[in-house]
Formats: sequence, structure tokens, C-alpha cells
Amino acid sequence: MQTILIKNARYLIASLPFDILENGAVFVEGNRIKAVGSSPDLERRYEADVVIDASDKLVMPGLVDAHNHVGECHMFTLFGFLDSPLTGIGDALDRIVWPAWCWIPQEAAYDLEMLGFMHLLKSGTTTVQDCFMWPDEAGRAAVDSGLRVENAPTLVTSLRLKDSSGPEDDLARTEAAIQKWHGAANGRVTYRVHPSATYNCHEWFLKECVNLANQYGVGIATHLAESVDESRRAREVWPQGEVRRAYELGLMGPKSLFFHSCVLDDDEIALYAETGSSAAHCPPTNSMLGNVARVPKMLAEGVNVGLGTDMPTHDMFNAMRAASQQHAIMPREHRGLLPWTPLEMATVKAARALNLQDDIGTLEPGKKADIITLDLARNTRLFPLIPEVLVTFITVNGTGADVADVIVDGEVLMRDRELLHLDEQAIMARAQMWTDEFLAYYRAKVERGEPLVEHIHDEFQP
Ligand SMILES: [Zn+2]
Repeated sequence: MQTILIKNARYLIASLPFDILENGAVFVEGNRIKAVGSSPDLERRYEADVVIDASDKLVMPGLVDAHNHVGECHMFTLFGFLDSPLTGIGDALDRIVWPAWCWIPQEAAYDLEMLGFMHLLKSGTTTVQDCFMWPDEAGRAAVDSGLRVENAPTLVTSLRLKDSSGPEDDLARTEAAIQKWHGAANGRVTYRVHPSATYNCHEWFLKECVNLANQYGVGIATHLAESVDESRRAREVWPQGEVRRAYELGLMGPKSLFFHSCVLDDDEIALYAETGSSAAHCPPTNSMLGNVARVPKMLAEGVNVGLGTDMPTHDMFNAMRAASQQHAIMPREHRGLLPWTPLEMATVKAARALNLQDDIGTLEPGKKADIITLDLARNTRLFPLIPEVLVTFITVNGTGADVADVIVDGEVLMRDRELLHLDEQAIMARAQMWTDEFLAYYRAKVERGEPLVEHIHDEFQP
């Protein structure tokens, strides 16, 4: 069993907000943390196969991204081709999201996922919740990436995904991937059932998704109450509103994760708290579409809110900074985030959102060894160095480029910014090739006036 000693840490954040050690150390045995404490003490007690000197570094728990679409970097190139600003979520889906989804060929899936995983890894994310197509390829990429990954294959009934004969076929693919990959790589890879949104899946299908999740004891996730326009349209069809309807359909519970959750009234927030459902707050994309979740209120009411990026081109430092800024421009009665709360949402709260709170989110003996270090030498962003202020500086000033070392499940994946297990240039070259191919397809379709998406039924249909 491999052992690792991270010693002489200038600072070590064991848990948040203020469990901060100076000259700390962590000893890892296999894939778990065996001890956390003062460096002289741990050096005396343990010998390790791998020793990392962190005298000019900060050691902390790996970041947890509670919502991403890891393999969709090609989608975000379409923002560069917009000829008018996006007007809201429906417009973004029509012009950006669905054309990109409906293109993804099976052969591209693994390569696109690997680019996203590599980007996350380099910016300190050690666990990610990943919504993507091609559940089998996503499982293989998750194993090879070295990250802790919760795959949530995208399921939708309103449009036809690439090479799909229909939603039953997609659900069967998800089930096959759960059987094959759930718990793979020593439990590092898990699955969750993911109907894309309650308004783009038929009701019978949402019930099938709940049945599948229950059958395998896995969680369920969906995009819920993301925008004002969507919630208004939903209420025209379902007067009880999206959230109450999700509850009635059996979607809410302690293993349920709802992305965005921006448009919640007080009763709906209470329903999240009562059922133990978690929310994944994604301020970068919410800002782009003009929505803000009532996070201070949700936290005050006991709702668990994890932080997510929703975008493979972002990272958790972007998301933390966006969260710290976004809530300051809310109406006064909705404000109230402490400066380091986004960091809690990016670690312990995101871990709970993925039902992984017993394994990750803090550096404690017995937990899985998911650890990152931040470079403090020549790093003016986190300077001056004051223990009580560090967590705030990480939240509002930190960047992915500050991350020096990354350990996931007891494996050193990045050492002083060098990836030890992935061929960075080769992964980037393949993702570039697929993105070029996607854009050539996209331009040709637009030029010929051909549809980019095959709709099966209108949205907001029971
Ligand atoms: Zn999303």
C-alpha cells in the first residue's frame, strides 16, 4: 500500500472555516488519510514512499464541483458565433446547448471528456458531478482521468440525441453504464440518474427515471427552477409549479440534487429542506442568463447548497469568486454570505450534495485522500499571509493556476503543476480536432439552412 507524507505545510486547512494549522502535515496510507497534525509529530511517527515538502504551499481539501457538463467544451465555442445577445434560457438552449448536444458522436465522447477532466484537475477540482451523453464512454474516461467522478448521463424526451432510437434506448444505456461502472476504480466512479429537466421529459419518463434510481440505490438529479421564464411557463402548464410537481413525481429526497434552483419561493425552499434535497448553485452560468439563486435564504433555512461550474471551461475558483460577488448585488434582504461561505460550498457542502460527505470535503483521518496544494511562493494573490484571512483570499482572489499538487484517492496526479498520468498535448490535440469538426458541421448546416436539432415533442408537455 503506497504511503504519502505531505510535510512542513506553511498552512494546512483541515476543515472550514478556521481549522488551520501552521507547519502541518498529512499522512496518507493507500487511498485514505491516516493522520493530520503537526509536521514534526507526523515526521517522527511515519515513513512514507512519497514525501512532498509543502514549506511554501498551502494544503487543503480538493475542490468538489457539484455540477458540470465536462465533455462539452465544443459547445462554448458557439458563444463566439452569436450575432445577437442571448435573451434567456430558452434562447440559449435553442442556439447553443441543443445544437451542441445533438452533434456529439460516440467516437468524440471520450476525447472531449478527457479535456474537461484534465482542465478540472489542473485547477484543483478532485471530484466532479458530470452530466454528459454516452454513459459508457463517460465511465471509461472517468476511470482514466484519475478524478473522483459522479456520472449523470443526460436523458431527454423532447429531442433525439445522436444515434439514439429514443428515450427508452437512452435509459437502457444509462442502466448498462450503472451496471458496468458504478463503483468502479475502487469506488471513485459513481452514477446518478439524470433526466435533463422536468419540462423536457415526459411525465412517464420522469417516473421511469425515479424507478431506475431506486432500483440501483443511486441518486437522481435534474435542472430545476433555473430561470424566471422557464418557471413562468411551467406554472402555466402545472399550476403547482415545477418544484411541487417534482415532489409529487417522487423526485425529491436526500439523494436528490437539483441544479441551479434560482427561482424558489419560501414554500419551495422549505420543501428542499424538508425532503433533504440538495441544490447545486452555479453562479457563472446563472449570471450569463440573468438569474440568481437565493442562496443566503436557502442556507438559513437549512438547505444544503453545493457549488458547481456548469461549464467545462470554468473552474471552481471562478465559481467561488462569482458566488462571492453575485450575492452582494442581490436586494438587501437576500444578502448575507460570509466571505468564506463559497469555499465551504465548494468542499463540504458540495460533498454532501453528492452524498459523499463521509468520504471527502475535509482533511480528517479516515477520509479519502483527495488533497490539493496551492503555491504560496511568489503568489501575490493570496498575500499578505494571515491564517484567518487565507480562506477569504482563496475564495475571492484564488485562481486555478495557484494549484501546485493534486492527490485523488491517494494517487499523486499532479506534482508542481506537472500531470503525471496524462499526456496533456495529446489530449488537447484530440479535443481541438473534434471541436474543429463540430464547427465545420455547424457552419455547413447553418449555410444550408438545415435544422441542427431533431425535436420529438414540444417542451412543457405532460
Ligand atoms: Zn447544467
